[in-house]
Amino acid sequence: MSPSDPKPRPAPVLDSDSEEFWKATTEGRFVLQRCQDCDRFQYYPRARCAHCLGPVEWVEASGRGTVYSFTVIHQNFSRAFRHLIPYVVALVDLEEGPRLMTNVVGCEPGEVSIGASVHVRFEPVSDEAALPMFELDQP
Ligand code: ZN
Repeated sequence: MSPSDPKPRPAPVLDSDSEEFWKATTEGRFVLQRCQDCDRFQYYPRARCAHCLGPVEWVEASGRGTVYSFTVIHQNFSRAFRHLIPYVVALVDLEEGPRLMTNVVGCEPGEVSIGASVHVRFEPVSDEAALPMFELDQP
């Protein structure tokens, strides 16, 4: 392997709070935690509701959202990312409420805009996890 060859993306390390989330991603399902006391959704996965400490349950999410903000990465020295340059790192507001940091993929960076409608797709990174990324909805 040459020092310039791409490396795979780092894979998430599963723990008891996130295991259910990552298992769903390998099945192409996007799930979120919902509080059983206050009904709020949360992301990232936690043992209890971040708002009221109530118990949480896993529910199927829409996988739809809008771009809150984004940046275009033009420089990254990591062998896991530099072959992707330029790429978009975005904050996406999910329909259910949580905001997550992700990539917008499947388009040119110049096509991404704040407020754009997006939907999830998954990129496998290990036997245990696929990364949720987002694509622009068709106009
Ligand atoms: Zn709660």
